[in-house]
Amino acid sequence: MTVFQQKQLRPSDGPVQISEEQLMARVHELANQIRQDYAGLNPHLICLLNGAFLFHADLVRSLDIPLTIDFMQTSSYGDAKQSSGEVKLVKDLSFPISGRHVLLVEDIIDTGITMNYILRYLGERGPASLKVASLLSKPSRRKVEVPVDYLGFTIPDAFVFGYGLDRAQQDRNLSFITSQK
Ligand code: IMP
Repeated sequence: MTVFQQKQLRPSDGPVQISEEQLMARVHELANQIRQDYAGLNPHLICLLNGAFLFHADLVRSLDIPLTIDFMQTSSYGDAKQSSGEVKLVKDLSFPISGRHVLLVEDIIDTGITMNYILRYLGERGPASLKVASLLSKPSRRKVEVPVDYLGFTIPDAFVFGYGLDRAQQDRNLSFITSQK
């Protein structure tokens, strides 16, 4: 398992604020690592909707290697800020993953419940390999340990939005990430 250079944001840094420039720089760093790790493997990058749609788009655009994409969606939050603890599959994959090198692209890992469910679900479909790229992680909130192979930023326990992540379905279109109301 590769955990690629985590960038730490500490509570003492105040509200979480990640600028568009910081996001783009980190996406390019992650893409450089993924390009090396998946050279010749034609990876299959699955975007977990809705929150990861911008991260996934920027990541695949930065990856100048042969690859394929797909999308899936689970729900557990509704419009609430706390997970219900139950994961439902809202949109299944459009393509089989048997024998494929799958990289799951997620926006944020909070309790880990969603990622744990998805990893088990996809693991049963016979991928050649299964790894996780998450833009953000809140390790202090973890209830289930899940592997994160490529991590953008570690953040403290704060509700964040922007760059694909929503606040009651709003603000996904912000070019930066913030925890400020
Ligand atoms: P987990 O199952 O608790 O790890 O939650 C993962 C999902 O919860 C993510 O894919 C997000 O959709 C959502 N989520 C968790 N924390 C935040 C946040 O701070 N802002 C926006 N969405 C969040």
